[in-house]
Amino acid sequence: MPLLKNSDEISRYLHLDMFDYNGLPEHLVKTYSFYENKFNSLYEEYSEIWDLENCFFYIKNSNSCNASAIKINGYNLINITNGYPVLMERKFREELFRNQILVAIINEKNISDAYCQLHENQSFNIKEFMLECSIRFTFHHEFRHILQFNNSNSRTNFNFQENLNTNTAFKMKKHAWEYDADRIATAKVLGFANDTKTILGYEDDYLLKCILYIALSSIIITKNLFYFNVINDYSNALSVKIKEFYTKKFSHPHSLVRMINIISYFIDCANDRYPSLGFEYQEVINNVLGMNRLYFSSLTQDQSVLDDFFTEWKNNLNQINAYNNELYEFAIRNKPIKQLLLYTGADFGITSKSR
Ligand SMILES: [Zn+2]
Repeated sequence: MPLLKNSDEISRYLHLDMFDYNGLPEHLVKTYSFYENKFNSLYEEYSEIWDLENCFFYIKNSNSCNASAIKINGYNLINITNGYPVLMERKFREELFRNQILVAIINEKNISDAYCQLHENQSFNIKEFMLECSIRFTFHHEFRHILQFNNSNSRTNFNFQENLNTNTAFKMKKHAWEYDADRIATAKVLGFANDTKTILGYEDDYLLKCILYIALSSIIITKNLFYFNVINDYSNALSVKIKEFYTKKFSHPHSLVRMINIISYFIDCANDRYPSLGFEYQEVINNVLGMNRLYFSSLTQDQSVLDDFFTEWKNNLNQINAYNNELYEFAIRNKPIKQLLLYTGADFGITSKSR
C-alpha cells in the first residue's frame, strides 16, 4: 500500500494547508495536474521500491517556489507549493532554450557534431528534457529527506523545505542532510539521463556526454534561479541579485556550496559509471556554465549575468571546497546517512542502481 488515496481525510487529520486547483481556468488545471501526476507517480514508484507506507503527495498553499518533505504522526509527506508549477512553466518556456545549441561551438568536433545530432532528433526536446531533469532532482532531493527521517532514531516530526529559509538557525546535521540529499538527487538525474540515451537508441559515447552535460546544466540552471533570486519573479523581468556568501548559517548550505557539490559529485558518478567517457572537470564546467550563460542571457537580456557566479566562485573557492569537505566528513559519520549508504551498498550512491 504505497500511497493513501483519500486526500480529504488525510488533509483534515494532519491539518494540511492543501491547495485546491479545481475550478481554476482550464490551462491552470492542466498545469497543476501535470505536476501532481508527475510527483505522484515518482512517489508511488520509489515508495514501493523502499517499501515505505503512509506516503502522500500534495500541493500546498504558497505562491513562492518550493518543495518540502515532512514526517508527521507516522505519515511521509512530500509537497510542492502552488507557486512551483506556475513559476517552473515561466522559467521553462521553449524560447528560453532555443539558443542552447550554441554551446556546440565551444567543443571539439565530435562533441559538437553530437550536439547537432541531438538537436535534429525529433524525439528529443531540450526544454522538455531539462524540465524533467529539474523536476526529478527536486523529487529525489525530497525523497531522500523522507529516507533520512525514517532512518533517524528521533521520534520528533520533521519539516524540511527544499530551499533556503533565512529564519531558521544553522545546524550542521541539517546542512549535512541537505548535502546528502543533493548528492543522491544528482545521481538519480544522471541515471535518468542515461535511460534517455538508451530510449533514443544511441550507443555513441559523445552523445551520452552531451545528454549528461544537458542534464547537469538543468540542475545548475534551477539552482542559479534561486541563487540569482529570480525564481519567484512571475514577470521574468527582475534583474539578478545574488545572495552573499556564507558557510555555517541558516537552514541550507549556500547555493554556491550546493552547486559545486552537485557538479563534483556528478563528475565522480559519471566517471565511475562510464569510465570510457573520460569526463574532465574543465570540459564539464565549460559546457554547464556555457548553457547557463545562454539560458540566463535569454531570460534577463543581460549578457554578463553569469559573471557574478564566476566572481563569487573564484573569490570563495577555498572556503567552498573546505566546507564541502567538512560536510562530507560529517555526513559519512551521521547515523541515518551511514545506514542508508550501507543499505544501498553504495559509496554515496555511486554504484546504487535500483534504489
Ligand atoms: Zn532539502
